[in-house]
Amino acid sequence: MASIRERPIQIEDLMILQKKRTAKRLGLIFGLTFIAFLVVLLFNTLRYESLQKHYEAIPAIKIPDLAVHRFQSGIRYRTISFGDGRLPNKEVFSGFLDHIKNSFPLVDSLLIKRTMGDYTLLFEWKGLSEESPGLIYAHYDVVPIDSLSLSAWKSPPFAGTIVDESIYGRGTLDNKVDVFAILEAMEMLLSQGFQPKNTLYFGFGHDEEIGGKEGAAQIANYFKEQGIRLSFSLDEGAPLLDGEMMGLNQPLALISIAEKGYVSYQLTINTEGGHSSTPTKNNTIASLARAIIRLEENQFDYLMQPVRDQLRYLGAEMSFFKRMIFANAWLTQNLILKKLNAHTTTVATLIQGGFKDNVIPTTASVTVNFRIMPGQTIQNVHDHVVKVIDDSRITLSILQGGGQEPSPVASVHTEAYTIIEKSIKQVFGEVIVSPFLLPGGTDSKHFVEVTDHCYRLNAAQITNIEAAGFHGLNEHITVISFQNAIRFYHQLIQNING
Ligand SMILES: [Zn+2]
Repeated sequence: MASIRERPIQIEDLMILQKKRTAKRLGLIFGLTFIAFLVVLLFNTLRYESLQKHYEAIPAIKIPDLAVHRFQSGIRYRTISFGDGRLPNKEVFSGFLDHIKNSFPLVDSLLIKRTMGDYTLLFEWKGLSEESPGLIYAHYDVVPIDSLSLSAWKSPPFAGTIVDESIYGRGTLDNKVDVFAILEAMEMLLSQGFQPKNTLYFGFGHDEEIGGKEGAAQIANYFKEQGIRLSFSLDEGAPLLDGEMMGLNQPLALISIAEKGYVSYQLTINTEGGHSSTPTKNNTIASLARAIIRLEENQFDYLMQPVRDQLRYLGAEMSFFKRMIFANAWLTQNLILKKLNAHTTTVATLIQGGFKDNVIPTTASVTVNFRIMPGQTIQNVHDHVVKVIDDSRITLSILQGGGQEPSPVASVHTEAYTIIEKSIKQVFGEVIVSPFLLPGGTDSKHFVEVTDHCYRLNAAQITNIEAAGFHGLNEHITVISFQNAIRFYHQLIQNING
C-alpha cells in the first residue's frame, strides 16, 4: 500500500525538481544576459573617448584702451529693427556707419567697401590669392525695448554705461559685441601690416532681426552674381557658456553647424455656425480645439542625424553615468533626443474666434508655430498638419513671408571648423568645444546659398545669468569678455591664413 501511495508523490517530486532546474537555468540565462548587457554598456562607455583636441593657450594680446569706449559709443545708436514695417531710422543708421568709419580708419580706407541695402557693409580684404575666400559676419541692428520693463534696467538700454565692470545696453550681446570685436581685430591687424593669404570678406548687417532681406540676403546675392563660392562663413550663434547647464564642469563653446527652420500656419475653420441653444456636435470652436489637441498629441518624430555630432562631442565630456547614457544611444536615443527637443516642434501661439456668448461662430482660427528640424521641410509640416487634423473644414495659410526652411548641416571635418575650434582653445583656454544645432534663426540662412560650410558662434563668454540678456532685460557683457572677443577674432583671422 505504502509503495502504491508513494508513486504519485515521486512523480510530483520529479516535476518539482524539473521546475526548479528550469527556473535555475532560466535564472542563469537571465543573469548571464544581464551581465552581458552590463558589459556592452560598459564597453561602449569606455571606448567613448573625448574628441577634444588640445591647443596651447596663447598669451593675451594688449587691447587698445579706446576699444571699450568705441563699443560703448556704438551701443548708443538706437539701431532698432522694429518688425512692424517701419523703415530703419536714417539718421541713426547712417550715424552708426559714420561711427564705424571714424573709429576704424584703416578698415575704412584700406579695404574695398561695399554698401548693400543702404546700411549693410561688406568689406573685402584682398588676399595673396582669391581662391577659397571666407566670410566673417555679424549684425548691428537690435530688437526694441519693451517700454514697460524700462525701469527694470540697471542702466538705460542705449546709454552703453559700465556698471560693475560690465557694459550695459541693447546689443552688447546680440550682436554688436561681434561687430566691434571683429572691427577692432581687423584694425589691429591692418596696423601691423597683416595681409591674408586668401581673400576675406567681412559683413555687418543692419536687418537680421527682421529676416536680413536687405542686408545678408544682398551680400549672398552679390556673391552669387560674382560667381563667388565661399569656403566658409562665420556668423553669430551661441555664446560661450558655463558648461554647468549641460552637465559639464568646464566652460563650453558651441559652434553651430545648423539651424532650425521656421513656419507659422494659421488654421481656420469655417462652419454653418448657429444658435448656442441648439449646439451641433462638431461645432466651430470644439472642432478647432480638437485639431489643436491632435497636433499636440501627434508630435513630429525625433531625428538623430542633425544632432549626431553634437551628442558625440558633448556626451564624451559628461560624468561617467551620463556618458554611459550617451555612449549607448542604441538604447537611450529617445530619451536624449527628447531632452534636446531634436524634432520639429509644434506649439499653438494665437487663437481667435467668437463674438457673442450665445452665438456659435461661423469661423475661428489658431496660429501654430513650428521650428523645423534640418532634414524636414515646410511642405512636410503642411502635409503633417493636414493628415493629423483630418478635418476638411479647416484650411491652412502660412503667416509672415512664407517661413524659412531649416539649414543644411555643415560638416565638422573641414579646415574652417578646425580653425574656429583651435582659435577658441588658444584664446579661451580650457574650453570644451562642440558642434551644435541652433534652435533659433540667424542671417546664415542666406549664406547657405553661397557656401556649404556655415558656422555660427558668438564670441562673448558669459554666465548663464547673463544669457538672459539676449532680447531680454539688462543685456550686458563684462569688459573682459568683450576684450577676449577681440582676441578671438584677432587669432582667428591669423589662423585662417596661417
Ligand atoms: Zn542676433
